[in-house]
Amino acid sequence: MKVLTDFDLTNYNSYRIKAKCKRAYFPETEEDVISFYKKEEPFVLLGSGHNVILSKDYYDTNFLVFNGNFQDSIVNSSTDEIVAESGITMLNLSELALENGLSGLEIFYDIPSSLGGAVVMNAGASGEEIKDVLVKVRYLDLDDMIIKEIYKEDMGFEYRNSFFQRNTNKVILKVWLKLQLMEKSIIKEKMETIKEQRWAKQPKDYPNAGSVFKRPKGYYVGAIMDELGLKGFAIGGAKISEKHGGFIINYNAAKGQDIIDIIVEVKKRVMERFNVDLEIEQRII
Ligand SMILES: Cc1cc2nc3c(=O)[nH]c(=O)nc-3n(C[C@H](O)[C@H](O)[C@H](O)COP(=O)(O)OP(=O)(O)OC[C@H]3O[C@@H](n4cnc5c(N)ncnc54)[C@H](O)[C@@H]3O)c2cc1C
Repeated sequence: MKVLTDFDLTNYNSYRIKAKCKRAYFPETEEDVISFYKKEEPFVLLGSGHNVILSKDYYDTNFLVFNGNFQDSIVNSSTDEIVAESGITMLNLSELALENGLSGLEIFYDIPSSLGGAVVMNAGASGEEIKDVLVKVRYLDLDDMIIKEIYKEDMGFEYRNSFFQRNTNKVILKVWLKLQLMEKSIIKEKMETIKEQRWAKQPKDYPNAGSVFKRPKGYYVGAIMDELGLKGFAIGGAKISEKHGGFIINYNAAKGQDIIDIIVEVKKRVMERFNVDLEIEQRII
């Protein structure tokens, strides 16, 4: 397993916040993951880093990173299933599905994520979520260091919430996805159409980590920001995107704390005006 000391995390978080960690481990096998946890040292688990806010400049802890490593996959054409390790990117997985004429992962062509991160976050868009195609998950339970499997039905999925978000002592290793046979050209067209629609709305010119808040019942975060005049509101090097009020962008060497300060201020103003307690979607590390 590759292990790097004083590792620069800037390119491993999509906000591009500058931070380092004591050591970064990049597992290739289940044995690597188990050996990492046998050390019993404090750790941070990171997928592809597209939904995290790094709050420190330096982490005196080890990071276990699933970002394009630990990414073997198998396509089972008799059952239309793909079984993949949790470090594979959703981009690669959606392209693998396309190559095999399997539909169900088109939205993930433009949701930057590792497979493990997508399950934890129950990532989705356009009315679809990863749970719709999920069969089961194999994971390492850090409570007893036993590898277990859990079926979708037992994972209590909700909007941007899952069993694994509520139980952070479980490490996703492998995922079974059930897809549907379909004409490749139809799959490709859906991928490209969704991507085009999303790019038209999202701020692609500055680093960000997607929607900061979960959508509150009966409201849209973008519309709330418009009404409060908060688009463009900045603290330090971070600001609320003028293009999409649900996104915070790093426009000038932002610190994680700048982003957190904006979140605190927005939550306060939204509570005062709408009596709504905005819930953060992103994970503060
Ligand atoms: C431009 C942009 C657009 C986005 N659009 C969307 C969208 O449309 N829909 C959407 O849902 N999200 C969206 N996001 C957010 C992000 O893509 C998802 O939340 C994604 O699923 C995060 O996955 P990740 O691998 O990057 O996880 P990370 O950010 O690395 O981690 C997220 C959490 O998952 C945990 N985790 C990661 N891997 C594992 C594992 N193997 N086992 C256990 N825990 C693990 C981490 O510890 C952390 O708590 C967007 C982000 C960006 C930057």
